[in-house]
Order: sequence, then C-alpha cells, then structure tokens
Amino acid sequence: MNLGLRGRRALVTGASRGIGRAIALALAEEGCHLVLVARDVNDLASAATELREASGAEVIVHAADLSVRAEQECLCRTFADVDILVNNAGSNPPGELDEVTTQEWRDAWELKVFGYVEITRGMYAHMKARRSGVIVNIIGVVGERMNPRYIVGSSGNSALIAFTKTLGGRSPDFNVRVLGVNPSLTDTDRAKYMLQEWSVQSGSTADQWPNVLKKLRLPFGRMLQPREIGDLVAFLVSPRASYISGTIVTIDGGTANR
Ligand code: NAP
Repeated sequence: MNLGLRGRRALVTGASRGIGRAIALALAEEGCHLVLVARDVNDLASAATELREASGAEVIVHAADLSVRAEQECLCRTFADVDILVNNAGSNPPGELDEVTTQEWRDAWELKVFGYVEITRGMYAHMKARRSGVIVNIIGVVGERMNPRYIVGSSGNSALIAFTKTLGGRSPDFNVRVLGVNPSLTDTDRAKYMLQEWSVQSGSTADQWPNVLKKLRLPFGRMLQPREIGDLVAFLVSPRASYISGTIVTIDGGTANR
C-alpha cells in the first residue's frame, strides 16, 4: 500500500533510540524527510546515518533537552514548517507512591506531560494557521490499565490520553489531526531498565530481570517490537488515515484486557 507520505516533513522527539528511532525509520522508508530530536549528539548522528543509508531520506538532527521550556519553544520556532509531529521523548521513573520523590515526579512530567503539551501547543499553532498537519502522541497502555508500581507513568499517561482526545476533537475544525498511540511493554533500553528496577524493588537483584519478564506472561510470549509501533504510526500519520483524530490506538497484544 502506498501511504502517500513521500516528501512530507516529520519531526520525531526521542528519535535517537528505541521507539522513536523505529518510528523515524518507518517514516523515512515511506519517503518522509526527518528531523530527529534527543539530547545525545552521538546517538543522534548514529540514527541519522542509519536512516540515510536505509532510505536516502533527508535527515536533520537537533540536540535539545525537551524538559526545558526554552528548548521546547526553540524547537517549535526552528521547525515551524513540519507536516507531522511525533511526541515520543519520555522517561517516567518506575515506583510506587512512596518510592518516587516530588522532584522526580515533577522532572519527569516536565518532559512527558508538559513537554508534550507545550510542543503540541507550539506546533499546533503553525499547523492551524496552515490548515494542515498531524500530531501523534506516543503515550503508553499504563494510562488505561493502571500500574501502582509505575504511578508516575500511569497518572501522566492518563492526562495525556485526555489531552489528546480533547484536542483531537477540536483540531479537525482547522484540518489538523491529533491522536495517540498506547504501546505496552516494548523491547527497548528503557524496558530493560524498568524490568531491572522492578526486579530490585521486589527484593531481587537487577540481573534477575528476566524472571520479572517471565512472570508478566506477555501476550504472544514476547515484548512488542519498536518497529511494530513504527509501522502503525506511519499508517496513522498518512492520508490513508485522514478520518482518524481524537483517538488513542492501543497496540498491546491485548494486555489492557488480560
Ligand atoms: P528509550 O529507549 O529510553 O529512548 C528514549 C528517547 O528519548 C531517546 O532518544 C532519548 O535520547 C530521548 N530523551 C530522553 N530524555 C530526553 C529529554 N529530556 N529531551 C530530549 N530527548 C530525550 O525509550 P523508549 O522505550 O523508546 O520509549 C519512548 C517513549 O515511549 C517514551 O515516552 C515511553 O514512555 C513510551 N513507552 C515506552 C514503552 C516501553 O516499554 N519501552 C511502553 C509504552 C510507552 P537522549 O537520552 O539522548 O535524550
């Protein structure tokens, strides 16, 4: 299926590793030009090389800490003309209420709640003025199936689900689509870190994380692969999905209902 994305300009946050990198690659293979954003310039350069070699896409990298308001604003000014925004950078800490400090909670939400809101606010204004654009928020299934051992993530993701549905119900008035994707546990560095932390929190050692994974009894006996999210996002941002807005698409192998 031709997704009709050739020549579109897409900006992906957290694009140097994991889910963001896989989304960027899927979009590059469909003919998009990419802006990759993360903090570490070396990881960004490596992702850009992979994308160029795999697809011949035009790739720009932009190093920024997106938990900082000034850098969120700078991003929206510098790349005002992107057709597609994928908000993905996030690093909520694991833990129950008494295991997470107020400062850790606030720092995490500066990136993955207020960061998404402010970057959406900036880019949406440009898209609204042009009467064209798509915004996808990568959220997480813990925002619909609550996890007390990941209270910062569950609470923040619930807020982002509501934010995405609310704005995505209004944005069609300006020919802009806003939607979300809720992945379950996905095979990235971050997932391994979370499993190690859960292993320690349950009284074991970090290197025993495969036991935690086994106990989760994941659907299909495996984690979700980043590329499966990339392919879904490529479809969702394409004109083939032009009636989808204000919706959260869950990609979890049934996790939310198990
Ligand atoms: P990851 O492997 O840790 O990658 C995170 C990406 O975000 C990296 O490119 C990282 O690069 C960037 N990043 C982190 N902090 C940043 C900051 N302050 N400013 C700019 N960029 C920053 O994570 P992932 O597993 O791919 O997760 C991506 C998103 O999906 C997150 O929002 C996560 O909550 C969500 N999610 C993940 C899973 C899962 O199981 N993995 C499940 C559901 C939802 P730098 O460190 O160089 O900045």
